[in-house]
Amino acid sequence: MPPYPPGARLLARPEAVEPCPACADPLGRGYPTCPTCAERVDAFWKADWAALAAAAGDERELAAAVLAAPLGTHAWTCTDWAMRVFPCPVCRSELGTGPACPHCVKADQARWGWDHAAPAGAITANEHALRLAVAALRGAGERRDTVLAFWRLSLPFLLVGAVATPVQVGRIRVHLIAGRADELAEAPDFAAMAALADLPWRTG
Ligand SMILES: [Zn+2]
Ligand SMILES: [Zn+2]
Repeated sequence: MPPYPPGARLLARPEAVEPCPACADPLGRGYPTCPTCAERVDAFWKADWAALAAAAGDERELAAAVLAAPLGTHAWTCTDWAMRVFPCPVCRSELGTGPACPHCVKADQARWGWDHAAPAGAITANEHALRLAVAALRGAGERRDTVLAFWRLSLPFLLVGAVATPVQVGRIRVHLIAGRADELAEAPDFAAMAALADLPWRTG
């Protein structure tokens, strides 16, 4: 069985949600448009890639080798990074993100096999959600506005290690569909986002 090395654990996570010094939103919420938000989030992927690339020569060759290796040979972060380094041979977009490109859809779907097949402890619920958020915000998978808004709002909390319960996810999605994104953006954590409807000034 491949080793399934964990990902995104070389650097310490931020201890608390802080405003981004560049865009002033909670750090990570500007991903990937705000360069500072993008840099701080990508740092966890980059650290794993740098550790792998230190022993290799050409980065593009390494990316091709990582993508060709059996699932679980490398950390999930390295698969994601390889998909950025090695563009889609069909549509030339970042691999996995090409709109309506079957090759991209296939590459995006294939990467999630890692999360499903990994042994216990190789990837946490928080790390899986962080991976989903970053992939979605880079343009992979379904592109519904509410899905993207959900990940954008969640990323600062995922970055500090939090994870929403399925019940909280359901409630937050209901609030998003109800057009309450601005109120959700003010909430300090997942619990507060989910509890939005219970605020007295909404019910009174
Ligand atoms: Zn920012
Ligand atoms: Zn493509």
